[in-house]
Amino acid sequence: MLNSSAQSTVIPRTVLVVEDEPTLATAIAQRITAEGWTARVASDGASAVQAASTLRPDLVIMDIMLPVMDGLEATKRIVAERPVPVLILTARDDEADKVIIEYTDTITAYYKIKRAVIKDKGLYCNAISSEIFRILANAGVPVHFMEKLSDTEQVCRRVDAIPIEVIVRNVIAGSMAQRLGIEEGVIPAKTVIDLCYKNEDLGDPLINDFHALALGLVSEKELAEIYRLTGKINDILVPIFKGIGITLVDFKVEFGRLPDGSIVLSDDITPDSARFWDIETGMKLDKDRFRHDNGKVGQGYKTIYERLTGAEC
Ligand code: 5GP
Repeated sequence: MLNSSAQSTVIPRTVLVVEDEPTLATAIAQRITAEGWTARVASDGASAVQAASTLRPDLVIMDIMLPVMDGLEATKRIVAERPVPVLILTARDDEADKVIIEYTDTITAYYKIKRAVIKDKGLYCNAISSEIFRILANAGVPVHFMEKLSDTEQVCRRVDAIPIEVIVRNVIAGSMAQRLGIEEGVIPAKTVIDLCYKNEDLGDPLINDFHALALGLVSEKELAEIYRLTGKINDILVPIFKGIGITLVDFKVEFGRLPDGSIVLSDDITPDSARFWDIETGMKLDKDRFRHDNGKVGQGYKTIYERLTGAEC
């Protein structure tokens, strides 16, 4: 049982509220004061760092979108100076955090020099990428994809795009076959992962880890995560496609950062960005049909769509 002096003891608690929206800041501060705690408000990231240093609060309530210095950077600096619990306020489901991606029937190649319209390509690609991203998300890969909105649209989380194209090659084809003089169809002793700097003016040049770090495109930790996720994506997708009679020859993926700094798979995976060969017939079912004027381009996309989604057209 507590004695009377212990019962009357009030532990002074100080909460630093970092919020640039005055009405919200006042409302939060009032709730804290009503609990008998002390609230102090800072309205930008830099003032928050300063206030945390002098006030030594017991808790920080931090908004992410702030002027001068954003909430994540301010949190890093505050915690580096003195460990303190920080409650991050984020409007994750805000419309501003989402983007709608629309798939069209246009097909392009050779840096958009060659262009055409393929009937229903937008519908096929939206369905194919939505299904692939759904499979990957269920297997624990963090993705930007949220939901399929319509035949040709999907909702995704907004990301800070990393300008690197990561290419996985299970079978030699395309530029690797040309560059190294290897016949298409050769299976490499080890799966190849290429990095390209996403810059169309330069022709998306092939780079290596040193370039990616030297150009400041990613940190070492991010690059390691990108390789880990890419390997996992390949391990998941190869057997899925094999199960529907298709060899996943190669594919290109891209990644982005969420506001909390974590890496997610972004962009899309479709016959525009992957090579799919029918295991039985060897028929190419991807953009190479368009690149090399093989004809039946839409038929290739439709086959992938039907086998992957089980849909009948
Ligand atoms: P390659 O290096 O042989 O041209 O391409 C390897 C794989 O990555 C192919 O499946 C190709 O479709 C894909 N790829 C490479 N660069 C790009 C690109 O800039 N855009 C898209 N959509 N796919 C690409």
